Amino acid sequence: MNQQPFRSGFVSLIGLPNAGKSTLLNQLSGLHLAITSPKPQTTRHIIQAIIDQPDSQIIFLDTPGYHQPKSRLDRYMAGRITTAVMDSDIVLMITDAAAASEARRNELPKQEQQLLASVRQMDKPVILALNKVDKMPKENLLPVIERYNKAYPFMSIIPLSARSGDGMNIILEEITRRLPEGPRYFPADSITDQTERSLAGELIREQILLLTHEEIPHGVAVSIELFEEEGSPERERVFIHAVIYCDRESHKKIIIGRQGSMLKRIGTAARINIESMLECPCYLELFVKVREDWRNKSDILKNLGFETRK
Ligand code: GDP
Ligand code: MG
Repeated sequence: MNQQPFRSGFVSLIGLPNAGKSTLLNQLSGLHLAITSPKPQTTRHIIQAIIDQPDSQIIFLDTPGYHQPKSRLDRYMAGRITTAVMDSDIVLMITDAAAASEARRNELPKQEQQLLASVRQMDKPVILALNKVDKMPKENLLPVIERYNKAYPFMSIIPLSARSGDGMNIILEEITRRLPEGPRYFPADSITDQTERSLAGELIREQILLLTHEEIPHGVAVSIELFEEEGSPERERVFIHAVIYCDRESHKKIIIGRQGSMLKRIGTAARINIESMLECPCYLELFVKVREDWRNKSDILKNLGFETRK
């Protein structure tokens, strides 16, 4: 019998904010794991999605969107990208091809050049996903492919649409055949190594970003202070007490809304998603606190689960 070897490995997903990393990951895993929103920078934690196939297992490391580090949190996130790339067998870079096809200049965005410069040092095979092809005329694709081909020695370049799902099988096959032989690292039914607790925080943050539109920038963080399960052996109910940290008093006002209406909408929408993740009813309590410049305060960062290095 001529059996195929089992292949497995880690794939880090990199790209600028808004390129479609989370959408791609969700589309690939068919599950609502990474958090997507129309705003950049929604993913602050590395989320591992695991795609288990009969002859392979792909473990995805989602990374925060790259931008030039300015605050302590930015530096922390840039460090997370480097760590993910170093720990991976293959790098999957994703870019917004529709935006690229509209760009006037025939070179990559500065931040993408910086990102590729740092990846180059780590000497990993890089597959490029040209995303959002549903948003551009087909005839514009070739010049974009040529531009990227000139800029970096990509192992392969694959046009796709993370939103419509076009090209998903091609990218999965491409990744799988490039993976080394290896073990099934996680049990076949694993979905993510993120705890329910931190996923709950991400689901709350997602609703804040979705519902407050452009008014609230990325200066919010959600800290789960209490996560208590009731009932045994079957879990019947979960109590969650979360604090939303924001930069300014004016942001706190927007998040709370007129007579608490916005906070209520955020809470209701987040609760519905949390309940479907936990598969049981959830009682969600939200508080809003102002912590000026929380991005640079290492004690708050630590509480939120971002360990900072000295
Ligand atoms: P991330 O910041 O890289 O994780 O990007 P997201 O996955 O959050 O996507 C950013 C925005 O682009 C969202 O509004 C997505 O719905 C949108 N988007 C992602 N993939 C596609 C695609 O293939 N086609 C189109 N038209 N929009 C997309
Ligand atoms: Mg994301």
